[in-house]
Amino acid sequence: MLRIAIAGAAGRMGRALTQAVQQNDALVLVAATARAGSSVIGTDAGELAGIGSAGVIVCETLPKDAGQFDLLIDFTTPENTLNNIALCAELGLPAVVGTTGLNSEQIDQLKAYSEKIPLCFAANYSTGVTLCLQLAQQAAQVLAEDSDIEIIEAHHRHKVDAPSGTALALGNAIAESLDRDPKEIFVLAREGITGAREEGTIGFSTIRGGDIVGDHTVLFASEGERVEITHKASSRLSFARGAARAALWISGQPAAGMYDMRDVLGLKKLDLS
Ligand code: NAD
Repeated sequence: MLRIAIAGAAGRMGRALTQAVQQNDALVLVAATARAGSSVIGTDAGELAGIGSAGVIVCETLPKDAGQFDLLIDFTTPENTLNNIALCAELGLPAVVGTTGLNSEQIDQLKAYSEKIPLCFAANYSTGVTLCLQLAQQAAQVLAEDSDIEIIEAHHRHKVDAPSGTALALGNAIAESLDRDPKEIFVLAREGITGAREEGTIGFSTIRGGDIVGDHTVLFASEGERVEITHKASSRLSFARGAARAALWISGQPAAGMYDMRDVLGLKKLDLS
């Protein structure tokens, strides 16, 4: 069995990850962390996730010695994730990272660590969203010439970064398929007298409210017709189960490197054209 450490076990995703790991016969939770000073330090990670005792006490830090866990799953904050991945690189352990909101410098740091260990990094671990990335690329190839591309996302009121990592991943996938530089074509917000829409740009709209787990739509609007590719997550378990699947896949990866959920699902090998 693959022995898993979960960072941020008290978080919304941390609790779903504990559940997904404990429900997977090939995985077992052996370590869990929470922010220093958090009231949940010392409690059982399973109790925290509402699934009964897991026999794992939540600590402030990951075990620092080799041999105490096999793989880290980290959905926390950019700073904490980078500290944890530095430890994984030192111990030679693979990791699954779902944290979003990393800036380009932080992503470069993650890439540098991935030269030492197999690292799965994806803005969205749901199978459906991963497929939508591929579908959006395919649609862009056919429709981009005549269509305006807009990405609309909605999330719960607690989300701290915008646009969502998934919205940006969708935009990046489309830009890549059109051979365009995201920095040149992304319009991340609009206000006031913006002028007419500039051709070839990708616009982003953000909605924040209530308990929305995560909705994303890629809209291709041309004169006379619209195509929409929409994904709606109704439970965080969809991300958590995807992360559990990624954990099993990456633990079998002999080569260090940066992988994503499309590698895990084998979609990069498929030709959907
Ligand atoms: P959250 O705020 O509920 O959870 C984050 C947790 O990390 C908190 O409990 C916080 O205390 C903990 N944390 C912060 N610093 C820590 C430290 N030093 N040590 C241990 N724990 C620490 O947020 P969330 O909704 O669970 O999301 C977490 C991250 O995952 C966000 O970046 C979010 O965008 C991302 N996310 C990714 C996916 C995906 O599929 N990739 C899906 C959902 C959320």
